[in-house]
Amino acid sequence: MDTSAKSLASPGRTLRAALVVLIGATAIAVVFDLWYNSVLISRERERVVAYATPYASALESAVGRRVSRLAGLKTFAETRRSLEQLRDEFPSFADGLRAGAPGIRALELVRDGRITAVVPLDSNPNVLDYDLYSDTRPLVPGDVRRAIESGAVTITGPITLRQGGVGFIVRQKVQRPHDGFPDLVAMVLDLPALIAEASTFSRPTSLSLVVLDRQQGILTGPTAPLDDPVHVPIRIPDGGWTLLAAPPDGWAMAVASDLRPTRIASALIILLLTGLAYMVAGSQQRLRQAVEEQTHELRDANDALIRQVREREAAESRVREQDERLRLALTSGQMGTWDYQIAEDQLQLSMGAMAMLGTLSVPVETTGRAFRDSLPDESRDAVHTAMEQALVTGECRAEFRIVMPSGEARWLYGAGELQTDADGAKRLVGVVMDVTERRRLEEQLLHSQKMEAVGTLAGGIAHDFNNHLTAILGFARLSQQHAETLADANAQTPGHTVRVAHALRSDLDEIVKAGERAALLTAQLLAFSRRQVIKLTRVDLSGVVFDVERMLRRLIGERRALVTQHSPTPLFVYADSGQLAQVVVNLVVNARDAMPEGGTIRVSTESVVLSAIGEPPLPGLSPGRWCLLTVADDGIGMSPEILSRIFEPFFTTKRVGEGTGLGLSTVYGIVTEAGGRAFVTSTPGVGTTVRVALPWHSGAHAPHLPALAGRPVMTTGKRILVVEDEAGLRRLVEEILSRNGYIAEIARDGQEAFDVLGAGGLPFDLVLCDVVMPRMGGTELANELMRRGVTVPVLFMSGYPANAEIMLDDRHAFIGKPFTPSALLRKVRELLELA
Ligand code: ADP
Ligand code: MG
Repeated sequence: MDTSAKSLASPGRTLRAALVVLIGATAIAVVFDLWYNSVLISRERERVVAYATPYASALESAVGRRVSRLAGLKTFAETRRSLEQLRDEFPSFADGLRAGAPGIRALELVRDGRITAVVPLDSNPNVLDYDLYSDTRPLVPGDVRRAIESGAVTITGPITLRQGGVGFIVRQKVQRPHDGFPDLVAMVLDLPALIAEASTFSRPTSLSLVVLDRQQGILTGPTAPLDDPVHVPIRIPDGGWTLLAAPPDGWAMAVASDLRPTRIASALIILLLTGLAYMVAGSQQRLRQAVEEQTHELRDANDALIRQVREREAAESRVREQDERLRLALTSGQMGTWDYQIAEDQLQLSMGAMAMLGTLSVPVETTGRAFRDSLPDESRDAVHTAMEQALVTGECRAEFRIVMPSGEARWLYGAGELQTDADGAKRLVGVVMDVTERRRLEEQLLHSQKMEAVGTLAGGIAHDFNNHLTAILGFARLSQQHAETLADANAQTPGHTVRVAHALRSDLDEIVKAGERAALLTAQLLAFSRRQVIKLTRVDLSGVVFDVERMLRRLIGERRALVTQHSPTPLFVYADSGQLAQVVVNLVVNARDAMPEGGTIRVSTESVVLSAIGEPPLPGLSPGRWCLLTVADDGIGMSPEILSRIFEPFFTTKRVGEGTGLGLSTVYGIVTEAGGRAFVTSTPGVGTTVRVALPWHSGAHAPHLPALAGRPVMTTGKRILVVEDEAGLRRLVEEILSRNGYIAEIARDGQEAFDVLGAGGLPFDLVLCDVVMPRMGGTELANELMRRGVTVPVLFMSGYPANAEIMLDDRHAFIGKPFTPSALLRKVRELLELA
């Protein structure tokens, strides 16, 4: 509200209220005044009537007394014996009647309308014998007749009297049988005398008075009309008169003085009321103003309150939103919350927490003791320690294992904070989450780190190991040939040399076997460390199994049976066939080892099409077409503890020398690399089944494989430059080549090779060189040769598969160490043929 408008409005309103009261009170006062005025006037009229009435009575009696004297004359006239006696006695009788009654101007006897006698005669000489019937005055003849006919008293007048002046003539019939007697007696009255007589004592002086005769003619009084006079009847014979009376200045003036006090009182009352009204309105105004101000304040307070309520509502909705977000965060983060009242030992769990604990069937509220009792021993200790820790540091963290009602073990991580309520009660509040998956991933990470380390290690040793192996195997083979030659030469005469040769040969056989086993180990190590030459191609999984089947039968021995079942159609996967063979071999070897007393090993391949995420026995496998290799045995099986560790490198349950612990970790590496997965199910005493699932390869990228037939071609006189830093291997290669008709020259590294080349002589047909060498390696050597325009084929030999990636074309080839003499010769021949 506008404050200026408010302050302007207040006095106006007060004045208005006072004005209303003023007008109202005045109106009431005026009405009252009018009423009171009329009351006073009617009372005044009564008073005036009371004052006028004696005067009227006086007039009545003045007339009445004279009329009664006329009655006396009548009786006198009727009682005279003779007319003469009447005439004689009449004057003195009449005089007597007149005495004491002023205003009787004449007494007359009338017969047949003629005045026959009159007293006093002296003042009335001209009326004697006057014929009243012929009187010209309008009323006289009529009244004379009326008097005779009615017998009642008639009064004529006021008329101008024949005697002079104004007066009345009163007549009365005389009842006389005698002839000649008067038939009327009459009396002439003087009006002023009558009035004067009546006025003497009874005329009120303070009033205006008018006397009217029976024809309303004014007998006496002012001629001006009176202001609403009172009428008082004057009863006289032959029709009454009327006395009119009124205050001389009018009624209003008459009551004015009576009215004055009440008027003053009214005025005072009006003033008082107006004043009161002004005051009341003023105070009301102030009150209203105060109320308005308070209302205003209240409204402000109310507005503030509403604002606060709105803010609070907004805050509440924000809190709700945050709650919702928190809930969402907790749900999507797979977390639950908990609240533990320490003193009461009351534990409250959220739905999420309960779902995690697998205790959905228990109430939301439980006790801390009940919760701890449900945990395995070591977890109970961990939780207990964490809670004691919280009491000291205000925080607790614990990772503990639980066993769900289903028997499944899970790892939970709980974190909380110590809080103190307003009443001093202490409680722990926090979250709990399922970290089983995280732990699994951590374990996997550790596992892969370990594998990485092993890979590095294996890669490191494999190179040297290969060199040695190559030397061992090469010399062993050469020795075998020597021994055979020796045996052949002495075949005819079996003797000591033959026995020696046989012994030598069987010893050498052992060397070769050991060397081959060692070579297999290196191959595994290299595959494991991913440093062997891996050629990913479209391979038929069944074909791979088929290829190694004969070898497998030899491997498992006679006590065990091998049953294979192949998919009727090819199972194409994109992988390295050598690695796949390694997988099959490793699995079958493990199955063999698990059946020391004999049994059956079943190897099968099949195609599987999953329409949904895989379930046991292929849990978690994504939908699609898979190629499945299954190796099952009915051997000793594994406990869950062993099962959980079998893919770890170097994990073995076998005796030293029997197991390396690398078989399954290699399988794991190869399968994972090819985009597949391995699943192992095992029951102790019943057997083990390993399933390897590899993604089906449609053949879109099927690479073309050059088919190099290993035809034995005898070539002699070809010059080969052998560049190798390892002395034993250098000698072996030289030996193999020279035995097979090649001319081998030797260099210890690239630099030396150039020295040999630069020395002139016949050009070389082939350079056979190691890749990694001091001073100048094989790659540099090849590059340098090209730079110098020497177009000679180069065969690289290396234990490092990575070196296989050096340029390989028609002129450049690679042979991995260790190699057998025949493998080397085959490669050399191929290269020389192409060149
Ligand atoms: P190694 O065979 O050299 O011990 P592996 O990695 O091949 O190494 O196997 C690891 C361990 O897994 C074995 O020592 C054995 O305890 C267990 N194992 C593997 N395959 C089987 C199987 N088919 N039956 C029982 N135990 C097996
Ligand atoms: Mg094994």
